[in-house]
Amino acid sequence: MVTRALDVVMLGPPGAGKGTQAKRVAAAFELLHISTGDLLREEVAKGTALGEEAKGYMNRGELVPDELVGKMLAKRLHSQRAALGCVYDGYPRTSAQGILLDGLLAELGRRVDAVLYLNVPDSDILARITGRRSCPSCGAVYHVRTQPPKVDGVCNACGVALVQREDDREEVVRERLRVYREHTAPLLDYYRGRKILREADGGLSPDEVFKRVREAMETVRA
Ligand code: AMP
Repeated sequence: MVTRALDVVMLGPPGAGKGTQAKRVAAAFELLHISTGDLLREEVAKGTALGEEAKGYMNRGELVPDELVGKMLAKRLHSQRAALGCVYDGYPRTSAQGILLDGLLAELGRRVDAVLYLNVPDSDILARITGRRSCPSCGAVYHVRTQPPKVDGVCNACGVALVQREDDREEVVRERLRVYREHTAPLLDYYRGRKILREADGGLSPDEVFKRVREAMETVRA
């Protein structure tokens, strides 16, 4: 049986758990996880021209210009590993990016099949993000309160000291939230209008959220 590719967008405010859920969806449905934030951070770490250009925007909590992110996404989307479908985590973030994604997928005879919206009250977001720590070596994500590592400040898998993302500091998070409301939230209506938006309560535990996300995904596959 030939199954057609499945393309799923994760939407939600910063700190809603998009990365965690996107990884799980990708593993469960054998899709490629594309996180534009992770890709950009890789470019920054490698010190590429793109990374150098993106760094300032990221550290201020602003969006990296559509064109730069779009090129990076197109490259991934045309890779062989993307042929069975992808989970887009952190993309699109503007209406123009939504239109670009539609165009790139249309060229491949595909479309956005579902949009999973993780809804989290603003009041929870700040605590979630400012407590977030990650491993610079394997990318594992922890939370000082809700998901602490076995040894304080050290990655369970690598034994490496955990770090806080530069843009997870409180003043930057406030800017990221403002940017989300202004530029990204309008995409909810864009996808709602196409009847492909599915909402899950992102305030629940990661396992509970995944249960609901999986149920929503099953209806897409059907
Ligand atoms: P994230 O890890 O998804 O929270 O992304 C971290 C930062 O990378 C964002 O605050 C933006 O500065 C930048 N970024 C990630 N994805 C995009 C995107 N699709 N468009 C513009 N900037 C992005």
